[in-house]
Amino acid sequence: MSVTEVKLSCRRCKTERTYGTEEEVPKRCPVCLAEPQFSPPATSWVRRKLPYLPLMAWVAVLPFSIAYGLLTRSTIWWWMFYVMALFFFGIAWLLVCVLLPWAKPHVGPFIIPTVKLPMEDQSPDRLIGFRVLLKLTEPEYSKRFAATIVGYKSVRGPDWKWRLYVLRLNPEDARTIGTTDHVLFHSQYTLDRKSVLLDRLMREYGAFSMRASMEDLLLNPESVLGKLGGRVYTVRSSDLLAESELEFSVLTVSAFGEVEPDRMIASPLQ
Ligand SMILES: [Zn+2]
Repeated sequence: MSVTEVKLSCRRCKTERTYGTEEEVPKRCPVCLAEPQFSPPATSWVRRKLPYLPLMAWVAVLPFSIAYGLLTRSTIWWWMFYVMALFFFGIAWLLVCVLLPWAKPHVGPFIIPTVKLPMEDQSPDRLIGFRVLLKLTEPEYSKRFAATIVGYKSVRGPDWKWRLYVLRLNPEDARTIGTTDHVLFHSQYTLDRKSVLLDRLMREYGAFSMRASMEDLLLNPESVLGKLGGRVYTVRSSDLLAESELEFSVLTVSAFGEVEPDRMIASPLQ
């Protein structure tokens, strides 16, 4: 429950394994030994270019052979036979590479670790009443505005679903930044992460996937998240805040912002 888990999925052999914080996450797929994207095999460049190598050689050789013929004023260009043979070989080689499996190029990345935060599946209802600090980064304000989470909304698209948190600002702060008293925050990425585990994943895999979870940020006292970044929206009419689900078309982007817990207040105000 209180342990951050790392899920390793291998795209090559479809193996999935989950590791706890204390366990050693292997650098390669434990089954097929596929490597992460950060360290592609040394031969991957050659393998990617393999289907085109003879044609690349032909393109390089052709101007030289023509120049040679013109400079020596030859009447019989016997070497052109070899140059054209290289061209036809290049075409045949390309077809072989497309049709035969052994010549397929490397299709990395194979492994991207997915980090599962301990509190990310908690109900967002538990966040209602929590105090947070909202900083607008675009336009930039040096002041961080205190806000209270008063609810959350679902926004659906054709193949995605977002959860937006409704933040209530002080009326004077809202006037300062030119928004309504209630804004909606869409948490999109994580900032100020403090974790040896995440540092190590970044170093060894070059990337990892992790939910920008407001639940973990606020409910987990030992959360590895420091801040969340994302877009701040307003809605056209405050009546819409009574709905539990909103259309994307009623949202207006008002700013980019960062949210962090208000550490000055020990417990949520209900
Ligand atoms: Zn594998």
